[in-house]
Amino acid sequence: MERTRTLTHYQVLGVNQAATPEQIKQAYHAAVLKHHPDKAACSMLTPTCGPHDQSTCDNADVFPLVQRAWEVLRDASQRAAYDSLLSLKEMQTPLAYQDELDLEELDLEDHEAVGRVLTYPCRCGDKYALHEVDIAGRNSVVVPCRTCSNHVLVRTPGT
Ligand SMILES: [Zn+2]
Repeated sequence: MERTRTLTHYQVLGVNQAATPEQIKQAYHAAVLKHHPDKAACSMLTPTCGPHDQSTCDNADVFPLVQRAWEVLRDASQRAAYDSLLSLKEMQTPLAYQDELDLEELDLEDHEAVGRVLTYPCRCGDKYALHEVDIAGRNSVVVPCRTCSNHVLVRTPGT
């Protein structure tokens, strides 16, 4: 059986990537019921509960994943950032980006045809290019190089 730690947040909750926020919420509640240990002494939901015996708690390693998945997927901007990481992961494994940049580290280029484009030099000699329109509503964007397979993660101020 596949280790739970390799599951995506969507797989942990048992929804597909196109699920609506409402579907994700329902899946989360279902997952809580399913994975939450029945023993009150073993509650992972309430951090204030007393110490519990991990060995009697089959769900001890699953429940934090459910919580983590919910925390990311319930937040639209976190979910969008996670989605872009996920789509990269499908194209090339393992996922790795060369660098993390803040938006202001990029150079702004004005192109008549395509509008404002933010660029950053890649080691291959070409550039990472990010269209300004793709930033809206995002906290971070993974940007591919125009030539090679490198990517950078760009942190944006969000909107
Ligand atoms: Zn490159």
